[in-house]
Amino acid sequence: ALHNRIQELRGNIRVYVRTRPFLPTDGAAARHSSIDILPDGESLTILGKHVGEGHAFKFDKVFAPSTGQDMVFDEVSEFVQSALDGYHVCLFSYGQTGSGKTHTMQGSGNGAMRGIIPRAVEQILSQAMAMQSQRWTFTMKASFLEIYNEDLRDLLVMVNSDGSTKSRDARTAPKLSIKRNADGKSFVDGINTVDIDVANRANGMAQLEAVISAAARARSVATTKMNAQSSRSHSVFMLQLCGSNEESGTTVQGALNLCDLAGSERLDRSGAASDAQRLKETQAINKSLSCLGDVFTSLANGSKHVPFRNSKLTYLLQDCLSGDGKALMFVNLSPTLESSNESLCSLRFAQRVN
Ligand code: ADP
Ligand code: MG
Repeated sequence: ALHNRIQELRGNIRVYVRTRPFLPTDGAAARHSSIDILPDGESLTILGKHVGEGHAFKFDKVFAPSTGQDMVFDEVSEFVQSALDGYHVCLFSYGQTGSGKTHTMQGSGNGAMRGIIPRAVEQILSQAMAMQSQRWTFTMKASFLEIYNEDLRDLLVMVNSDGSTKSRDARTAPKLSIKRNADGKSFVDGINTVDIDVANRANGMAQLEAVISAAARARSVATTKMNAQSSRSHSVFMLQLCGSNEESGTTVQGALNLCDLAGSERLDRSGAASDAQRLKETQAINKSLSCLGDVFTSLANGSKHVPFRNSKLTYLLQDCLSGDGKALMFVNLSPTLESSNESLCSLRFAQRVN
């Protein structure tokens, strides 16, 4: 019964589109949205001076700008839950800088603005505890890494003992590598993992919150013209879940990966080409993102060879993107006419899934 909770999905990868509302910083220009969401909740059209006549798209779900964090989480909670059933599950947010990726994944504060990561850990912890009454015992290990210039870095070793963040120059933590275990599953060799106390809800939540806030402080950020908090790296929060049932002797091994991807915009738009370091970053970011697109295309075509190993991101997430893994991509869009060209690029990228 446990394994029947999730209905059969159409393919491995779902796409949800989320358009953010207009912000005061979007400027005084006419507040006319380039995105028109159709009443079916799955279709949209995009128009704008840069993209010509309207283009129509259809995905698994399209959220209106008014959709709150709680409603978005409602739509992914079963998906998140399936990690406890032994699936390798991945959610990620894709889009240009300022489109709402971090808002969707991390959110802010401790209340209504919390995003998917804090809500997911809370739900997983509650459910794991509830399943104790059905003789299930879980162990849970959390880790947090970033992929920066195609290097993997452990975000949980970038924090000083007093809680402050080490400077970028001081980040001498060894680069991590991805390996495959005896079952053929990807794992990150040598990464720090924090054992989460599943038997004690308050302890478990405190440990998870500590992991998340340490990682948030450590994240590699650089200022670009578009968004002072723009991240030039991909971050991945990972939960490894092992469950065993005393009664039936069944064991399950699941994983939940929650990824906040780097901005998908091209160089010129963010003005990021101005120095060599930035250029190198952008090329590396684009390598992981373009490889992700190549993987989508290969999977959609049923190709025998899928180029998972061409980037760190896709190699890391291989188990979620293939086999009986489950992946869900948010395409985050800015509603402004000025962003319509980037939005069109993001939608076309996501279309490669099908
Ligand atoms: P990104 O991570 O893609 O660069 P952010 O998540 O930082 O973008 O979002 C940019 C700004 O827009 C932030 O100030 C964020 O709070 C705001 N924002 C994004 N999405 C929403 C939303 N759905 N509702 C309200 N504000 C949002
Ligand atoms: Mg962000």
